Amino acid sequence: MSELLPNYLAGQWQSGDGPGTPLFDPVLGTELVRVSSSGLDLQGGYAYARDEGGGALRALTYAQRAGMLAAVVDVLKANRDRYFEIALANSGTTRQDSAVDIDGAIFTLGQYARWGAALGDTRWMGDGDTVPLAKDGSFRSRHVLVPTRGLALFINAFNFPAWGLWEKAAPALLSGVPVVVKPATTTAWLTHAMVADVVAAGVLPAGALSIVCGSARGLLSPLQPFDVVSFTGSADTAATIRADDAIVRRSVRVNIEADSLNSALLLPDAGPGSAAFELLVAEVVREMTVKSGQKCTAIRRVFVPASCYASAGEAIAAALAQVTVGNPRNSTVRMGALASRQQWEGVHAGIAKLRRHTEVLYDGTSAPLVDADPAVAACMGPTLLGGSRPDEAAVVHDTEVFGPVATLLPYDDLEDAVRQVRLGQGSLVTSIYTQDAGQAAQAALELADGHGRLHVITPEVGAAHTGHGNVMPMSLHGGPGRAGGGEELGGLRALQFYHRRAAIQASAPVLDALEAAREAHGTAD
Ligand code: NAP
Repeated sequence: MSELLPNYLAGQWQSGDGPGTPLFDPVLGTELVRVSSSGLDLQGGYAYARDEGGGALRALTYAQRAGMLAAVVDVLKANRDRYFEIALANSGTTRQDSAVDIDGAIFTLGQYARWGAALGDTRWMGDGDTVPLAKDGSFRSRHVLVPTRGLALFINAFNFPAWGLWEKAAPALLSGVPVVVKPATTTAWLTHAMVADVVAAGVLPAGALSIVCGSARGLLSPLQPFDVVSFTGSADTAATIRADDAIVRRSVRVNIEADSLNSALLLPDAGPGSAAFELLVAEVVREMTVKSGQKCTAIRRVFVPASCYASAGEAIAAALAQVTVGNPRNSTVRMGALASRQQWEGVHAGIAKLRRHTEVLYDGTSAPLVDADPAVAACMGPTLLGGSRPDEAAVVHDTEVFGPVATLLPYDDLEDAVRQVRLGQGSLVTSIYTQDAGQAAQAALELADGHGRLHVITPEVGAAHTGHGNVMPMSLHGGPGRAGGGEELGGLRALQFYHRRAAIQASAPVLDALEAAREAHGTAD
């Protein structure tokens, strides 16, 4: 039997009861490690995190906590090679795809370390200006943001075991809030390895970082009103979490990052042969194949003018045909595996559902695999579908197939395109491709209310842009409606989730004393 990974809770490594749930290599089908959260004293573990971890973190200033994040970066960099080995074995990803997760995590942490250092040696942040309440100005109001005195529980998805932890932990720890992470079981090993290395290095105070691997059962019950939950995963699990007593009755603050039918939109000015058209084709192919399409931000719907439908379909299909699929240990392989055979079955079922309403423009599902047994490996070539009657195919705007799959959809005019994008009911990101800066700005504003991010690609940024699906810590991540309604990252905005806002109404001298105490060391407005 493989090793049972212990949980780290209440400052101790503790194994869960029973044999645990096995994690597998999705290419070879071999068992790697096991996890169990059964029988853990969650209540005691959470209390330790709040009291010991939270207390120690809040005693530090933002700049000191930023220094801690920088130390975590050093630990992760020192162990980086092993993380790639674990990702190769447990996620079945190529080195390039693993880097999106692992190096993305390290980059994001480093960025928050730099931003945090600039906040200086302060312990609270201001929000807006001081405003007079009394006519003579003697009595005023000042809004302050102070770290919440609870813990941050992260319930994460399987597709980003590294970045998914650190993109949340960076702003939480910088805010002075201790973290308990529950990674998705399928790929929990990498999250576990990173936490184990950081704990062993002793760069965080006791109780600042805990990990529970295995079933999520009972995870929300011990939460208290000042705790926060950040969830990333499917809309169905999100609905269960939202209905939990912790959220409904104890007002635990919750952030939801759920699934999303993200779009790529070619504007009417950009026909075949234009630079914008070529950029759309390249980006769609990249988004469909990076991490086998298992990115919450991946392009699922591609909107082009009806006159370009055939040429766009041909160009994307031709590029997809070049993608080699199989065992990522073979250096000729460009696209590795899905995270598990269960995911593989789910993607096949999703394609079958979409195919009832669409035509197949490229079918890679039966293409031969490189160095992988098709009966065992969770590997699958990409599929491009097309819909010439999009209004009759509501399913295309509603069904997230979490794999290398996208649907090409024609539109009549820009109004029709915007209407169709909106059928996604709120998305994380839409990318817009055009030669025309004015049209780009207009389309971006028109779509802004339904998205967390608009990624506008004009030819002059063809080489410089950061990628439709890449989540940069400087920009907001999240989206309204279907996408979960959450907000993450976006620079220091992310810290707000881990702070409580209060208005302090007082005399001018009291408020001056408040500012003076802080400004003696720096400012954090
Ligand atoms: P999932 O099945 O919803 O699982 C997500 C997490 O929730 C896992 O840790 C899971 O634990 C846990 N969980 C399951 N049942 C739970 C319950 N009743 N209460 C509390 N937690 C529970 O999602 P997934 O399959 O891992 O991830 C794929 C989905 O995530 C896709 O739909 C994708 O779009 C979405 N996603 C969104 C974003 C974003 O930022 N918007 C990012 C990445 C992924 P177990 O693994 O132990 O079941």
